[in-house]
Amino acid sequence: MRALLVVAALALAAVASAAGQPVVVLDPGHDLRANPDTEPIGPGSSIRKIKDGGGTRGVVSGLSEVELNLAVALRLRTLLERAGVRVVMTRTGTAGTSMGNVARARIANEAGAALFLRIHADGAADGRVRGTHTLYPALRRGWTDDVYAPSRRAALVLQRDVVRTLGFPDRGLQERSDFTGFNWSDVPVALAELGFMTNPTEDRLLATPAYQQRAALGLCRGTLRFLGREAGACGR
Ligand SMILES: [Zn+2]
Repeated sequence: MRALLVVAALALAAVASAAGQPVVVLDPGHDLRANPDTEPIGPGSSIRKIKDGGGTRGVVSGLSEVELNLAVALRLRTLLERAGVRVVMTRTGTAGTSMGNVARARIANEAGAALFLRIHADGAADGRVRGTHTLYPALRRGWTDDVYAPSRRAALVLQRDVVRTLGFPDRGLQERSDFTGFNWSDVPVALAELGFMTNPTEDRLLATPAYQQRAALGLCRGTLRFLGREAGACGR
């Protein structure tokens, strides 16, 4: 069944790229309400994790991560569509209970996404902690072996481009074996943590439309580079 799904996803991706229009699934993290239900961290796993513990919030701006993630994703959608990429969103509003990470991954799998791009901002107890980092799935046989290498490659270019456009400290890449949304993904996946909303400097900047556009621009350039396209199509 799973093999069939993978074949179907690959076939869809092939059709999309043959038409010259790759599909990218954008996943603005969280939603209006957290989701305390649990779900298996990977297909067939007995380990379960909460669907969504909720996001962080700007220590100075008061902006919620939920709104920031969506604002950046909507700007990114515009840039990618202008560059000829078909975009599917896991949410386009902030209205309900978070769907959980298996559901998010399923949307990407069913779309046959060339990239499943998850957009978040971070929080830490120490307000001095700052910087941009990008996460991707750790290698695990049967779960991520099919997407590990391209996901890592996507994370690398995304991190480089977002660091360039935002100018925040470069915290590098991080492999994660415990992310449900990674383990259920049958397509290349990366999660950008744009900055720390618990750091006053980064919060103030990320709360502005100008920096939200910078974040979108960096993510657009990284995405196009990953797709083997000209990053200049994202504009300036
Ligand atoms: Zn988050």
